[in-house]
Amino acid sequence: MLTNDLLSQWDRESFLHPSTAAGAHARGETPARIIEGGQGVRIRDRDGRESLDGFAGLYCVNVGYGRPEIAEAIAEQARKLAYYHAYAGHGSEAAIELAHMVLDRAPDHMSKVYFGLSGSDANETNVKLIWYAMNATGRPAKKKIISRWRGYHGSGLMTGSLTGLELFHNAFDLPLNPILHTEAPYFYRRPDPAMSEEAFSTYCAEKLDALIRAEGADTVAAFIGEPILGTGGIVPPPAGYWEKIQAVLAEHDVLLIADEVVTGFGRLGSMFGSDHYGMKPDLITIAKGLTSAYAPLSGSILSQRLFEMVAKGTDDMGPLGHGWTYSAHPLCAAAGVANLKLIDELKIVENARDTGAVFQRLLHEAFDGHPIVGEVRGEGLMAAVEFVKDPGTRTFFDASEKVGARVAAAALERGLIARAMPQGDILGMAPPLCLTPAEAEEMV
Ligand code: PLP
Repeated sequence: MLTNDLLSQWDRESFLHPSTAAGAHARGETPARIIEGGQGVRIRDRDGRESLDGFAGLYCVNVGYGRPEIAEAIAEQARKLAYYHAYAGHGSEAAIELAHMVLDRAPDHMSKVYFGLSGSDANETNVKLIWYAMNATGRPAKKKIISRWRGYHGSGLMTGSLTGLELFHNAFDLPLNPILHTEAPYFYRRPDPAMSEEAFSTYCAEKLDALIRAEGADTVAAFIGEPILGTGGIVPPPAGYWEKIQAVLAEHDVLLIADEVVTGFGRLGSMFGSDHYGMKPDLITIAKGLTSAYAPLSGSILSQRLFEMVAKGTDDMGPLGHGWTYSAHPLCAAAGVANLKLIDELKIVENARDTGAVFQRLLHEAFDGHPIVGEVRGEGLMAAVEFVKDPGTRTFFDASEKVGARVAAAALERGLIARAMPQGDILGMAPPLCLTPAEAEEMV
């Protein structure tokens, strides 16, 4: 067996980690942690330290760690058929069953699912499908995509451009054309503290309307948004937001992409965030909760309206020139089928709603009114605590104080994983959806 010391040495010598201070890590200045196992809402490292995982990995291990049902489904599929592609109408039993199960759970007007591997590639697929649909329906100039500041939609060239966070743009020369950004629905940081939630939603919708008019509606194809902002700070939308935004989109014939990579399959206490907030998207992005991260799998769910545009394109122009080798990979699809069955059997969505309500209440009781807490917010099993120097004036701490990161480090020392969100002093929590009220209390 490899020793911890040897693994740490190889790690520093060989492994360029994502979202990591690479130089400091290679020099051994930042901690390396080798995770060895997990059960329920807890993970264990090679030094024998256990942590309560308040972020479900990266808000993805929704049914919790160590589920034998999913492990066995993957193993059985591997023995039967580890791989065959999905091109030209091929498929595996698992992939077809999963597509059916996803559509069964998705909002009624949704019609087909295209499988990828990550949330990023699914959003890349979404942009391409929309461009394809615009070409297929004789609107080649209608290609711009509008996203929000603080949105998170992935790390690729196009999806990193859709993302509205400085860390993902500045050093990479992003965003690319033709991606535009509009106001974040961040009520706590509204421009005028006297604004009501409804008034702020109207303000955001008016900003979007003005942007579409300035660009020309015949050049704007789609708007993308997470039902609740995730990596941008875990910010639920203000009252009336999605209704007002959708009215603007309808007026200008702009499609809506609901990025449900985090919210899909129960996190907000509803199967989809679109159901939760009355959104009627043309595309829904799914990933993380689709397999609870037991295997990498994502999907783009198309509405009937969008599917008809794409089908017209393939009738006129030939087969869709867009495919991944691993699209609908049988092992990942088998994990997805077992995961969705488990979500039903364990009533995971209902638990996210009920335990989520307990979790939100406990967080408010513990942190409202604390001298450096500006806001406690969330929905279902997704929550954030925002730290400020002065709650009265919402004044930021100096960035050099790294308050969010220090709180996250202090939590980790006490056995809790919570995440310092990348922009602002915000501690994020998104535990596995199998969390019990007792675990919620322990976490808080
Ligand atoms: N969209 C949202 C809303 C996400 O939160 C993420 C990842 O956190 C992504 C897309 C990108 O997914 P992936 O990291 O699997 O590429």
